[in-house]
Order: sequence, then structure tokens, then C-alpha cells
Amino acid sequence: MSARHCDVIVIGGGLHGLSAALHVAREGRRVVVIEKHWVGRHASGATAAGVRTLNRDLGELDLSLEAMDMWHVMASLVGDDCGFHANGQICVAETPAALAKLEARVADLRARGYTHEELIGPDELRRLLPDLSPHCLGASIARRDGAADPHRALRAFRASAEQAGVTIIEHCGVTGLERQGQDWRVLTEAGPWIAPCVINAAGAWSARIAAMAGDDIPLATKSSMMMVSERLRPFIKPVVAIMGRSLSFKQSDQGTLVIGGGLQGIPDLDRETSTARMRVLAKGAHAATDLFPSVRNIRIVRVWAGLEAKTDDMLPVIGPSPNAPGVLHAFGFSGHGFELVPVVGAALADLALRGHTARAIGNLRAERLMSPPAKEQSS
Ligand SMILES: Cc1cc2nc3c(=O)[nH]c(=O)nc-3n(C[C@H](O)[C@H](O)[C@H](O)COP(=O)(O)OP(=O)(O)OC[C@H]3O[C@@H](n4cnc5c(N)ncnc54)[C@H](O)[C@@H]3O)c2cc1C
Repeated sequence: MSARHCDVIVIGGGLHGLSAALHVAREGRRVVVIEKHWVGRHASGATAAGVRTLNRDLGELDLSLEAMDMWHVMASLVGDDCGFHANGQICVAETPAALAKLEARVADLRARGYTHEELIGPDELRRLLPDLSPHCLGASIARRDGAADPHRALRAFRASAEQAGVTIIEHCGVTGLERQGQDWRVLTEAGPWIAPCVINAAGAWSARIAAMAGDDIPLATKSSMMMVSERLRPFIKPVVAIMGRSLSFKQSDQGTLVIGGGLQGIPDLDRETSTARMRVLAKGAHAATDLFPSVRNIRIVRVWAGLEAKTDDMLPVIGPSPNAPGVLHAFGFSGHGFELVPVVGAALADLALRGHTARAIGNLRAERLMSPPAKEQSS
């Protein structure tokens, strides 16, 4: 089959692949997204869609804060707000030790010049969360944070990318990468594509694509689980987490509770499945009812688990391949990549089109995770 040519090939039709494709195409380049299944099949379709700067690692905080600014004007990027509501994210302390950790975190941020997190006491906490259990002592809050609707985000990013001229090819797996002069020949189940730049946004399978380009980047797999309740009266607007326990708790626009927070199922990368573990989910349900006793007798109507790549330091890999000129990596979001979608696509477009970016991806190079090349034996 004869090869087709374009300027940038994006491997993976999740939100990061779509965002990168959109930003590149808006600058007039020909972009193809190649997706093994369908757009949103994996993490981007399974996500809880929390839009969070709260408790972000310093290594990605500046990037996350820029992403948050973009979420606040999301309609200007993709013509839709993606269901984003900035009702805040709150991390609750149940014990004096947990409260001390939140105080130390906020003090450290202040000392570094960050003001997006603040501490709140019991009165403000009860004003924001009237149904909260009285044992909670205080919390940290990021008031500009919130949550969005992942399926609206997928629809909006896909439609905007296609309007910008992106070709999206679904049900077509990438099977190999070959160097061809200054270009890359991307082998797929439907024949080869050729481009000088390839973006690896293949989610949980990104290490396999990286290996095709000669990069050995160790990645583990996350299988985060979610559960959704029956519809309830509206009673909570912010997204709530607990210091020291796995919980993310919010109420959707439809009234359902969406409960997650990193509880892990069983991943299987080869079969592309992720199996929910009910006993582990029960821990999440316990944490939720400890915080909100009024939801103790509600019904859970649906559970699921998604697949995503996780790095050793829980920070993503964003930037050029160390070994393959023209290949850019964007993966390993370790359970918190949804919020970063608008800014990572913009950073990748900078790298693809100009070879550099002013966006704060300096801590996110692949090299930090890779073994150093073996030193030559000295005689
Ligand atoms: C249950 C769950 C809850 C989460 N909650 C949050 C949250 O509240 N807030 C937050 O910020 N983040 C959250 N995340 C993380 C966030 O959803 C992910 O970081 C983000 O969606 C990753 O997007 P992606 O495009 O990199 O990956 P994906 O959406 O997984 O896309 C990668 C795509 O690559 C395709 N692919 C793989 N191999 C190939 C190949 N060989 N050829 C072609 N295509 C290929 C896959 O089919 C897939 O569609 C959550 C994740 C999960 C699973």
C-alpha cells in the first residue's frame, strides 16, 4: 500500500492526542490522528474529569495553573465549556495530624509565592458543605478548581480538531515506527503514513510506542475505579477529597454522586481490560459515608475501571524523545491528566512547530525515568 504524507501524526485518540492535533492544525499544518479503537475508548472516556490544581506536585504545578486559566476560557478554545463548573476542590482534614499536613503544604506554597490554595476552618467548611460530618476539622481549598463533563470534552475537542482540518482515523492500530530519511514512517493496520513529526499520546500503551522509537521508558499501569450512585437532591457543589485517604467525591449536574479517588482495579494491558474490585470500592464507599453520613443508604448503580500509564514519580512525560528526533511524548499522567489537556496540547504544538516551548514542562522530560547509558569500562 502506498504511504500517505502529512506534517504531524498523532498516535492515540484520547483527549491529549486530540488537543495536540487541534493546536497543531490551528497553525495550518496537516495532522492525522491514528486511534486503535475509537476516540475516547480508554482513560479519556473513563475519567472522573476533575479539574484540579489542589495538591498538585510542584513538578507540574506551573503547567497545571496555566491549564486552569485555559479551563476558565475553554469555550474560546473548543466552542464549548465542556461542562466545566469552577465550584472549587476541597481537601478535608479529619484529624489534627492531617490538618497539620494541609497547613504545612499551604505555608510552603505561600513561601514559594503561590496563592491558589488556602486553608479554611470549620465554619467556612460547613458553609460550603452543609452535609459534612461534624468530625472534620478544617480543609484546604482551591476555589478556581472544579470538574467538567468528559464526554462533552471529547465531543468538543474532536469537533474542533476536525473543523481545524485534522483527519481522525479510528479502528486502526499503529504497529511500528521506521526512520525514513528525515521522516518517520508510521506503520498501521491500514497501511503506512509518513511525517517528520510523530506525537506519542497512546496512554497506557505509550511505552510500547516509545520502544518502537528506541526509547526504553519504564511505565506502570493504573487501573483507577469509579462508582456512580442513583440520582439525589443537589447537596454538594465542590469536589471533595480527604487528606490521607483515597476519595474523590462530587455530584454531577444530573444529581448522581461520582466517587473515585485512585482506588485500583486489576489492569491487563494485553487484553486492554481493567477489572473492578468490589472490596476495594467498598473502602471508597466507606470514606464517602464517613464524610457524608446522609448518603449511607443510597444505591450504587454503576462501577467501572480505566487504564492509564503511571510513572515512578507520578509526573507525566511531556517532551521530545531522547533518541528519536521528531518524536514527541505525552503520557504517564498517573491519574491526573484530564486537567492538563488544553495546555499539554499547546506545549506539544510549540515543540512540533518551533522546536521549543515556554510552557513549564522542564521537570517532565523522559530522561529522568530512563537508565543512564552504561559507562565504558575504564582500564
Ligand atoms: C477512572 C479514572 C478517573 C480519572 N480521574 C481524573 C480526574 O478526576 N482528573 C484528572 O485530571 N485526571 C483524571 N484521570 C486521568 C485522565 O483521565 C487521563 O490522564 C487522561 O484522560 C489521559 O488521556 P490520554 O489521551 O493521554 O490517554 P487515553 O485517553 O487513554 O488515550 C490514549 C489512546 O491511545 C490509543 N492507543 C493505544 N495504543 C495505540 C496504538 N498502538 N495505535 C493507535 N492508538 C493507540 C488508545 O486506544 C487510547 O484511545 C482519570 C483516569 C481514570 C482512568
